[in-house]
Amino acid sequence: MNMNGKSATYIHLQEKARQLDASDALSQFRDLFLFPQQNGKNILYFTGNSLGLQPKQTREYILQELNDWATYAVEGHFCAKRPWFAYHEFLTEKMAKVLGALPKEVIMMNQLTSNLHFLMVSFYHPKGKKRKILMEFPAFPSDIYAVQSQIKFHGGHPDEDLIMVKSEREDYIIEEEKILSTIEQHGNDLALVLIGGVNYLSGQVFDLAKITAAVHKAGAICGWDLAHAAGNIELHLHDWDVDFAVWCSYKYLNSGPGSVGGAFIHERYLDNIDLPIFAGWWGTDKKERFRMKPVFEPMRTAERWQVSNAPILSMAACLASLNVFETATMPALVKKSKQLTAFLEEVINSINGTFQKDIFKIITPKKSRGAQLSVICHLSHPRIFFETLLQNAVMVDWREPNVIRLAPVPLYNSFEDIYKLGIVVEEILPQFI
Ligand SMILES: *Cc1c(COP(=O)(O)O)cnc(C)c1O
Repeated sequence: MNMNGKSATYIHLQEKARQLDASDALSQFRDLFLFPQQNGKNILYFTGNSLGLQPKQTREYILQELNDWATYAVEGHFCAKRPWFAYHEFLTEKMAKVLGALPKEVIMMNQLTSNLHFLMVSFYHPKGKKRKILMEFPAFPSDIYAVQSQIKFHGGHPDEDLIMVKSEREDYIIEEEKILSTIEQHGNDLALVLIGGVNYLSGQVFDLAKITAAVHKAGAICGWDLAHAAGNIELHLHDWDVDFAVWCSYKYLNSGPGSVGGAFIHERYLDNIDLPIFAGWWGTDKKERFRMKPVFEPMRTAERWQVSNAPILSMAACLASLNVFETATMPALVKKSKQLTAFLEEVINSINGTFQKDIFKIITPKKSRGAQLSVICHLSHPRIFFETLLQNAVMVDWREPNVIRLAPVPLYNSFEDIYKLGIVVEEILPQFI
């Protein structure tokens, strides 16, 4: 039964979407974003977990820097509306709020994988037997490559020193108990644990506080990759005692392709100037920086880890976006996110109901999820189904061999978007079953 037939379920879902949109306190934020178009109409966009949409004001923020560059040239470091010399500082407090961190624990710099390397220089110190790194599997390949290469850099062997806690299940879910017991078992030889706070593939959210505490009990360091967590789920990195974290800003943080990444280093390390780092001039005491002394004066903030001067154009995009987050606030976003995801689940279940088949199996755990549902498609040609969605102006994300990831993002997705997605899916589905 498709929309033209107006089944009772559909009338109910349409009505529900309208009501939820009408009572949504964040509904106007959608107008602050640019949606991709197909045949002059907005695409239904559900891939904000991969590349967040462009805030309309981003252009203005970048133009400001282009204009200041044209007007002041090198003097822009000090005379620009937002002086480049200290540009990263405009981002710190806003970013810290999104993460539940103290501003001095946060630095926006480089990109995710580079930050991971820089922080492993400080936090991975294999000594004697205590040299192993534990990760989840599936983990994002870039993180695995980074960890393998760090192990080799320290003279170790990934086959021996890398522990992967693997999901043995069809749905890629990793039981948290398995992670906790593996950590406990390896108390004698574990140096570092690095896990994605939200698994990129399954959308599973891990209990950062609980895992971090277990890692500390095992006498190891706990780092988190927050690529899919920052700007998505509620975080309290400081209170959870996380040692370090890294993230990118182009997914939920809407700062544009390849934009500046971030790093968190817990306050308790900031006065420890003996911690090894790979240093650069942007990490030395600001007041001394331009005296060009040959001696590095470590800053007592996360800024110590900065090596280079800031990439202003991508930081301008990041600032434009963080201003939107500051207005919306994370608690409000998380509240709406839960409602959106629950509604998406309802629509997917109703499609299964219409066809009286479990065509779509949601693998993301109900109790631990953010703004993403990963769905296994039980179809003979799932990839062509995915491509047909795109031809019908629905953008979702595809992972081999049969997983579709859908991210309803509270800043710019509406309940009606989800309802409309359901209609398109029901219309094209009969060709595939
Ligand atoms: C997106 C993502 C990355 C990407 O790394 P870059 O260095 O930004 O290219 C790395 N790790 C995870 C878990 C990701 O989701």
